[in-house]
Amino acid sequence: MTISVELCSHPQLDDRITIVRAGEEVDAVFVRTERFNVLIDTLGTPELCRMALDLLDEEVRARPLIVVNSHMDWDHFWGNAAIAGKAPIVAHAAACERLNDARALQVLNEKVREDSRFRNVELIAPDITFSGSMALHGGDLTLELIHTPGHTPDHIAVWIPEISVCLAVDAVEYPIPEVWSKSTNDLRLICSSLERIRDLHARFVIPAHGRTLSPSTVNGNLSYFRELAVRIENLSEQELSNSELAKLTGLRLQDFVTIPADMPRQVVEFYETCHETNLGATVQARLDGLSFT
Ligand SMILES: [Zn+2]
Repeated sequence: MTISVELCSHPQLDDRITIVRAGEEVDAVFVRTERFNVLIDTLGTPELCRMALDLLDEEVRARPLIVVNSHMDWDHFWGNAAIAGKAPIVAHAAACERLNDARALQVLNEKVREDSRFRNVELIAPDITFSGSMALHGGDLTLELIHTPGHTPDHIAVWIPEISVCLAVDAVEYPIPEVWSKSTNDLRLICSSLERIRDLHARFVIPAHGRTLSPSTVNGNLSYFRELAVRIENLSEQELSNSELAKLTGLRLQDFVTIPADMPRQVVEFYETCHETNLGATVQARLDGLSFT
């Protein structure tokens, strides 16, 4: 598979924000401040990240670069080898635990077998980590790195108060986000992270997938989780134990959100898997007698 990188802007969006788009795969974001540049995420391979840096050439040379890894999912940080030794990489402390887990290398080996474009990927750890939150003071713009777990334990979103922009990465996703596991606690985390982002009252909310800027996606995601809980509320324990629950009419992905007619089949299948995990977590919360919606 060949993927190209393009720089995108949006007429309504502040011109210090540039979306770095790697085809349909993922969006990274480049933010220019008075004191430094910040690149949020390094795309899925070092080659893609290098392409992005080449396109941003003049801007990158104009001031120092700080790189943020939003979370350790492959499409967001496998480009780190293009940055290593050139700019500091910042991530949440939980990112290191994910990198040290055997699963990280396992995913890489699987992907290399599937597609040779991953052959140069190296798992590069962040240089600077933090717990809770951290602020990058760029002078004209402040980038507040906010821990927003639930999609993954290490996930961070970026809030830029001066221009009311939230770079939500994968904490918000169109049509739906995916919870880390089918556990009550992860469901609680993803919902409270969504509420935290909603309560910023951002003018623009920019996820890494879905090509949207609208803050309404946050409310859409929250309503989706609320609706999941409502639809299973009156099911018996036996009904809840059905392993095919996400395939029953009324509980399928398309019964909760509108799937765009032009969405490729494999993308729909991907979101169906996310939905199945989300439904599983909602069932677990219900069995635990808890509701967060
Ligand atoms: Zn992602």
